[in-house]
Amino acid sequence: MDARVGFHVSIAGAIANSIDNAKKIGCSAFQIFSRNPRGWSAKPLDEKDAIAFRDKLAASGINSNSVLVHMPYLPNLAGPNGELYKKSTETLIQEVQRCSLLGIRYLVIHLGSHRGEGILNGITQVANACSMAIDEAGAGTTTVQILLENSAGGKDSVGSKFEEIGLILDKLNSSRFGICLDTCHAFASGHDIRSKDGVDSMLEEFDNKIGLDKLEAVHLNDSKYPFKSNRDRHEHIGLGEIGINGFAAILSNYSTSKVPLIMETPIDARRGDGDNLRVVLHLLAGDRYMKG
Ligand code: ZN
Ligand code: MN
Ligand code: MN
Repeated sequence: MDARVGFHVSIAGAIANSIDNAKKIGCSAFQIFSRNPRGWSAKPLDEKDAIAFRDKLAASGINSNSVLVHMPYLPNLAGPNGELYKKSTETLIQEVQRCSLLGIRYLVIHLGSHRGEGILNGITQVANACSMAIDEAGAGTTTVQILLENSAGGKDSVGSKFEEIGLILDKLNSSRFGICLDTCHAFASGHDIRSKDGVDSMLEEFDNKIGLDKLEAVHLNDSKYPFKSNRDRHEHIGLGEIGINGFAAILSNYSTSKVPLIMETPIDARRGDGDNLRVVLHLLAGDRYMKG
């Protein structure tokens, strides 16, 4: 199968506009927020908007298995029981339902913060929220898969270590769950993927602690901050601390290049999306020493 590559794109104006935005920059995969990511409330998805999205996607040449929805930012699925946890779980249920209405396969979630309650508590809370969401989202939503995203680490964060994610998946024990591996977060949390050896050893650890069969998507981002910084700041592909050799290794590996590759890279005077896409396509073609 040809590589599936793209970006997080905007839904401004109407959710179906995201498909035009993706096609315009040459995406064969893309990610969206299904609604404003910075608020709690979202008005229900209009049936007409959902149909418009599904029809346009079907005509676009982009497979619905190559489309991701990213959860909004406010929910904290690892937090202690209480109002915030309840709202977080409800948001997760709604997002599963929205993916289903849109005919989108993948929902990417952040695992959040245990807020001082301890890592095992955080792991239990995430697993409970996830299984509740699948139970309560309804029978019509069975084609939606929830992808747990590894985090950059730092105070109270859950999911920066592969064993933590592995424990959550073990508890869930269901094909409704998989992993979205963010390369910037992996590097920030202590995987030195600046070389082929480093990439190989990260994937070996991933396979031991989670299972490579669980890898369903990659967030392809370079890192603005150094190795093990625990800081989550994305950089253009090859221009950050991971660098071009790291991405050459990631993109020449079968496990990491066969899944949807989504960039969440900046747009600035140095580069736009088209430039990052060109770099990635060169690397996928095995062309390490590209010009320009
Ligand atoms: Zn994310
Ligand atoms: Mn990400
Ligand atoms: Mn990030």
